Amino acid sequence: MQKHTDIATYTEITPTAPIYVGQHGGRAKCLQRLVRLDMPVPRTIALPFDKVQAIAAGYPPNTAAMIAEFGEDALISVRPSSEDPDWGGPRAILNIGMNDARHAALCETEGPATANALYLRFIQAYAVHVARLDPDMFDAPILTPCADDPDLSKALATALRAYEDETDEQFPQDPARQLGEVLRSMARAWAGTTARLLRQAKGAPEDAGLGLVVQQMAMGIGSGESGSGVIQFVNGTTGEPQITGRYKSQSQGRDALGAKSEAIFLNKDPRGTSLAEILPEQFEALVRFGKLGRERLRDEMQIEFTIENGELVILDAVRVSRTSAAAVAIAVSLAEDGIISREEAVLRIDPRALTEMLHPQVDPEAERDIIASGIGASPGGATGKIVFSATAAQASLAQGDDCILVRRETAPEDIRGMHASVAVMTEKGGMTSHAAVIARGLGVPCIVGAHGISINHRDKILKLPDGRFFTEGDIITIDGTTGEALAGAAKMLDASLDGAFTTLLEWADEFRDIGVRANADTPTDALTARRFEAQGIGLCRTEHMFFEDDRLTVMREMIFAKQPEDRRASLDQLLPMQRADFIELFKIMQGQPVCIRLFDPPLHEFLPSTREGMRELAESLDLPLSDVTRRIANLKEFNPMLGLRGVRLGITLPEIYDMQAQAIFEAAVEASKHGDPVVPEIMIPLVSAQREAELVKTRIDAVASAVRFATGVEFTFRLGVMVETPRAALRAGDIAQNAAFLSFGTNDLTQMTYGLSRDDAGRFMSDYVQQGVFSEDPFHVLDTDGVGELLMIGADRARDAREGIMLSLCGEHGGNPESISFCRKAGFDYVSCSPYRVPVARLASAQLAI
Ligand code: PEP
Ligand code: MG
Repeated sequence: MQKHTDIATYTEITPTAPIYVGQHGGRAKCLQRLVRLDMPVPRTIALPFDKVQAIAAGYPPNTAAMIAEFGEDALISVRPSSEDPDWGGPRAILNIGMNDARHAALCETEGPATANALYLRFIQAYAVHVARLDPDMFDAPILTPCADDPDLSKALATALRAYEDETDEQFPQDPARQLGEVLRSMARAWAGTTARLLRQAKGAPEDAGLGLVVQQMAMGIGSGESGSGVIQFVNGTTGEPQITGRYKSQSQGRDALGAKSEAIFLNKDPRGTSLAEILPEQFEALVRFGKLGRERLRDEMQIEFTIENGELVILDAVRVSRTSAAAVAIAVSLAEDGIISREEAVLRIDPRALTEMLHPQVDPEAERDIIASGIGASPGGATGKIVFSATAAQASLAQGDDCILVRRETAPEDIRGMHASVAVMTEKGGMTSHAAVIARGLGVPCIVGAHGISINHRDKILKLPDGRFFTEGDIITIDGTTGEALAGAAKMLDASLDGAFTTLLEWADEFRDIGVRANADTPTDALTARRFEAQGIGLCRTEHMFFEDDRLTVMREMIFAKQPEDRRASLDQLLPMQRADFIELFKIMQGQPVCIRLFDPPLHEFLPSTREGMRELAESLDLPLSDVTRRIANLKEFNPMLGLRGVRLGITLPEIYDMQAQAIFEAAVEASKHGDPVVPEIMIPLVSAQREAELVKTRIDAVASAVRFATGVEFTFRLGVMVETPRAALRAGDIAQNAAFLSFGTNDLTQMTYGLSRDDAGRFMSDYVQQGVFSEDPFHVLDTDGVGELLMIGADRARDAREGIMLSLCGEHGGNPESISFCRKAGFDYVSCSPYRVPVARLASAQLAI
């Protein structure tokens, strides 16, 4: 006890006082900076974290000494000062020191209306936040003067009586006791479980401390022109220079913000009186302080001020709260004005926040009637009519209507429907389920694993747990950023890819030391990849190309072919289409590397699953229905993710890879005629044994020779292997002998390392994360301990076997900052991610290198 009462318990904030963010909090430090800038800040003292912690534990603060600092007659306020203002803190309490005697004195000097208002506010705050009495009894309405009680004297009497009735004691009169109780209640509020959980959710550490600042009140209520307000010098939504804020006569604290209709404007405004008109000098001073704050505090600040009988007093300054777009605009403008360095501007932006800028967003302030929530798998917001099938989505697009595809889960055959939709929601699935991966690639907002909803595809009904239901054509909004689906059309904010965004990323590229490519399957993806300045394509999944209408039929014929010659005949029809796809991609990428993955999925994904579909297929192939159903049954696998797919198809039905290689080489020859020589990269999926790579390599080399011979053109290419199975990582040394590069496919590698289906994990992932079984969804953030160890083993063994072998990662983790950090430390050459995550990856890798 002795220890805490005797130590220097508080520090007056002067220009040279030892005030530290890590001991007294951000607000205390900021106030010291304002003092150093000679701003008219009232006398303030700061209590450090350890003192506040001791107060919470029951040690009595020496409040008599504090009161003496301010003088017996002063009124004072207490505000929280946590290390990071975003972690919040208890509410400020104003007018401490008001009591009957002070009230009587103020009645004399300022009149009863002022004295009553000040006392009443304090009683209200004290009763609710310190004595923890029922807020209803001390509600705001009793603070408002009315015809019956113009100077609030009745309200004051009522409040004092209510306090006494509830506590059986008189309202505390001793300022030292008042202050002691306020400090104790604020300290305890911070130590409470709810407050701790709330701030931890905002990123605060478990032991985050709270400092408190005790400040002499400036009287916004009183004689002459008195009032309070806030002012800022940029628009918090766009980051553009603009003076905004509010001022309200006869008010305190943040009153002006609560009562917009009564508040007056700051700048000259045709809509009404402004502070600039009624107090031009004070307004000029505020503008000067704003400029000074920006230059010396090196950020855009919102200044809280009071006018006390015509005199300007600065109470506080906090960073202007801002959208991601504004954060980028502000950081770039500060760097351009030489106030911060480019490095600092790059470091100030949370890479994930960039994603918000790439898509229209649901206005965070908008009303939300939440009908479902799940995993926000692809960010952005979109409104449209519900459709329950890919066909309905295409029909809707044809009619020019925006639609939202709602499915239990999606399969490759839904891709065209996803293309036609403005957003997607699935009942099942996790971060790497089909819907999630495709939606991110398309830049379409998406929610997966929307638990609680039930979808009846046949009757076209979406049912909610609360009994409500939606049918086809009903309008909903998908917020893929928060993972919430909303009834009706919500208010949107536009995407903001302006000059500041481009400038910031240009600066980021100057610092970064790991490459960033894009996963791009279509010309649209490739164009997006270029727009976001990816350094090539790191993964082109070719199977999506076979789902186009005309190709699907040929593909199915190929699957039903009994003999290799028949299979080859079908593939011959697909060859020119594939070649055209690749020519287009090569042209768009203009000589940048393009890494094409050979065919990967199990064949059954190309076959119909309904009886109706099978009948149609039998008709189009001119086969008996029984043949079709038999073949489909033959292809059925118990665990298709671990069955006949990837290189296993390449080994057992080699004609598919032959055709793809031929298409790639012929396209490279063709595209090279029009521009820089194209050096295609080809990679083999799902390898687990060296011999697989060896066999495929032999055939592909043969195809290359044949194309060189047929075209008379020399070309080079690189053949690599995707490391997606734990065995491939362990045997990377052998495999590297037949591979010019290795690309770690961490979606499958995570699935196989955990033995956890990427399509089913979403159902229970949130339970697992909540209970701390996994710290994060390993399909989202790379599991550096387990999967990461396999990556390291694979990388080391591959490098030992083949010096300088190119290494990369192309799973969904490629767009995740923590995972990029791992790849960079492991010395990978590049990461590849969905085109819409390229900006995030560029910025995150720059931050890692600074
Ligand atoms: C992977 O498995 O990490 C990968 C990139 O391939 P896909 O997601 O297509 O299985
Ligand atoms: Mg894979």
